[in-house]
Amino acid sequence: MEARRHISLKESIRSIPDYPKPGIVFRDITTLLSDPRSFRRAVDALVHPYAGGGIKQVAGIEARGFILGGAIAHQLSCGFVPIRKRGKLPHKTVSMAYALEYGTDEIEIHVDAVGPGDRVLLVDDLIATGGTATAAINLLRKIGAEVVAACFVIDLPEIGGAQRLRDMGVDVRTLMEFE
Ligand code: AMP
Repeated sequence: MEARRHISLKESIRSIPDYPKPGIVFRDITTLLSDPRSFRRAVDALVHPYAGGGIKQVAGIEARGFILGGAIAHQLSCGFVPIRKRGKLPHKTVSMAYALEYGTDEIEIHVDAVGPGDRVLLVDDLIATGGTATAAINLLRKIGAEVVAACFVIDLPEIGGAQRLRDMGVDVRTLMEFE
């Protein structure tokens, strides 16, 4: 019988040099998502620490955080809350600007997306500087959430974002590291 070799979770990530600009290695999770076994393994591993932990809502950051966050919320029997780029949410929002390497960006959340004191798990595909996740945590706190944890498939530890979140009192879990 032919032996079947499964790729590791890390091998399921496609790395694209110089995208979106020279010097950046883009870590592409579409290859993880399209591989049934890798997608399930990633979601199971991200869910595991929070099973039975009283999480009420999973908040996902547009766009890749929606895919992972939706699957995680389903498995935890939680609600899902989208954190979107400016101008995309139809109801009353609160927004937060954050610094990019060049310029700024802005994300928003519906003002009534969570109930007072709801325990929230924040989800995105990758953490680099932590600028996006920090803005998301500040938004969630502003509307009354208790952000207990944040999880990501990929950490770029040399850039220090995960530590930045831990310094804000948020438990951070990641599945793999790249330089
Ligand atoms: P940061 O705010 O610096 O932590 O950047 C995190 C956000 O930017 C996430 O939403 C990521 O999807 C995206 N991102 C940053 N760097 C990369 C990278 N090297 N490869 C893929 N996505 C990235």
